[in-house]
Amino acid sequence: MTDKKNAGFSPLWAGFLCKCPNCAKGRLFGRFLKVAPSCAACGFDFPESDAGDGPAVFIVLIVGFVVTFAALLVEVKYAPPYWLHAVLWLPLTLGLSIGLLQPFKGLLLAIQFHHGAAEARIEDNEPGPR
Ligand SMILES: [Zn+2]
Repeated sequence: MTDKKNAGFSPLWAGFLCKCPNCAKGRLFGRFLKVAPSCAACGFDFPESDAGDGPAVFIVLIVGFVVTFAALLVEVKYAPPYWLHAVLWLPLTLGLSIGLLQPFKGLLLAIQFHHGAAEARIEDNEPGPR
């Protein structure tokens, strides 16, 4: 792994923008949430990182807060019928959730890159039961 953590850009911001955390130019994702095998701009092999459920957790918390606050505000101020709430908040919830998935996955992968996170492994030369 090349060390370009201080190359004049924030790898975290690059990850949030779905760019390569190594050069901030190439694309991080090949398909929607599938990480590309390597960066097209700098050739950096993206490690087999897995953000797990991390992006979904942040999105649930953020979108849940925004939509709930907005729905409560609209209800208190205008008291619209319930069907209008459904028309307003269901598409907003879906749009925000799907729209934020890629940036948050990119951010969490960039955080892993920035801190050099790797899967735990056992050294072959350590004594121990086999
Ligand atoms: Zn790159």
